[in-house]
Amino acid sequence: MMPEASILDQGWYEIRRQLEYKMAWTGGLFVAVPPHHTSQTCPACLYKSADNRKTQASFLCTHCGYAENADVVGAINVLHRGLDLLEASNQ
Ligand SMILES: [Zn+2]
Repeated sequence: MMPEASILDQGWYEIRRQLEYKMAWTGGLFVAVPPHHTSQTCPACLYKSADNRKTQASFLCTHCGYAENADVVGAINVLHRGLDLLEASNQ
C-alpha cells in the first residue's frame, strides 16, 4: 500500500471512530452505510448505471429521466440505505 493511501485510510477511520463515539455519548444513533454506487443509482426508479452521472455535478437517470444535483442524489441514496438498515435491525 502506498504511504498516501495509508494516511487517508487512517484519517477516515479516525473520523468514523469519533462520530461513533460522539453519537453514543450524546445518545444519538450512528449507522454506517455501504457507499458503493450511491452516486450512480436513481432514487426514483433504482436504475443503476455509470451513464446516469453525466458530469461530476449532475445526475440524469437514463431510464426514467429523473434529474438532480449528483451530491443530492448521493445523500438521498445514503439516507434510504441507512433507513433500510435500521428497519432490518428492528425486525
Ligand atoms: Zn430513474
